[in-house]
Amino acid sequence: MSRDDSEIRGATPDHAGRYSNSHRAFLQAFLSRPVMSFEEMKPIYAAIMSAENPNRPYLEGDVTQADIVTHLQLINTRLSPLDYEIKSMKEQEKRTTLFALVNTTSDLSTQFATTFSPDEIAYIKRLLDAMFETNNTRTREVMAVGGMQPIQLAKAPRSRESRGGDDTVVEGTQGESVVPGAKTITHADAERVLETLVAQSFFAKSRAGYYTLAPRALLELRGYLKETYNEPAGEDPEVEPALLRIRDCEACKEIVTVGQRCVDRSCGARLHDVCAGRLMGRGAKKCPTCKMEWSGEVFVGERADTTARRGRQSNGGRRRLEVDEEEEEEEE
Ligand SMILES: [Zn+2]
Ligand SMILES: [Zn+2]
Repeated sequence: MSRDDSEIRGATPDHAGRYSNSHRAFLQAFLSRPVMSFEEMKPIYAAIMSAENPNRPYLEGDVTQADIVTHLQLINTRLSPLDYEIKSMKEQEKRTTLFALVNTTSDLSTQFATTFSPDEIAYIKRLLDAMFETNNTRTREVMAVGGMQPIQLAKAPRSRESRGGDDTVVEGTQGESVVPGAKTITHADAERVLETLVAQSFFAKSRAGYYTLAPRALLELRGYLKETYNEPAGEDPEVEPALLRIRDCEACKEIVTVGQRCVDRSCGARLHDVCAGRLMGRGAKKCPTCKMEWSGEVFVGERADTTARRGRQSNGGRRRLEVDEEEEEEEE
């Protein structure tokens, strides 16, 4: 949990004053614009406060971050019985703090039921599986879908499970129920789903054409993603260690889908680019976890897509272990 989160959550009605039309107006702004930065909220806050008190116009330059956080805290006390909350996180590359109105009990079906059909939601699930399983192996943490893959995934797999190879589907986790019986969608529908997800700030599309999860999706689906793609250790962790496909930054403790990793593949340390720069400065660069040299050149995100650079076929659908072993050999 980020510091900003706890700030917004530490709300009590007494501390934050009375809920008024200014809070309703601010919430209204979030409904039409689901992700906002402090800079984007300042003029809205100033306009709302000026409207509430016309004799004392409120200038944008007078708005402090504390004003806005206090305002959001009180809004959150009203939202929480409905399982909604305005949450914050830092954007992974520029580290700008962003605020989003999110459904706190979100799984894929709740999140997308009003926007997409069940077959389209199953398609989104296949995109996430590709990001966090197929394209997220021990040697290649791409966590993105690029090239022809987003369109190829429009085709539903014949089996009842969406995970590649003979990995077993974990029973009873959220979202799995949307997959069985899902039908192939047309390429045109797949393109429309992708465009909508980008327009709604759930997906981001890079210049090289990779789709990744945007901050809004990371905020909203954080719990779902970890529950779905991270597997806890077995009874004997020596035999069955935890499999963490999604890891947090060692510095800021938020999810890393774009950043750097330790040169030692068995080490769990991940850092955002900016966080690595801040943590290590100009001195000797060492991994915060295992103390090995930190090269800054082993990447998480589309820069890790060595498959694309080598122009090889996608390994989609094959067992994770086989892909790893093959790549280990190649890279030696
Ligand atoms: Zn970080
Ligand atoms: Zn390390």
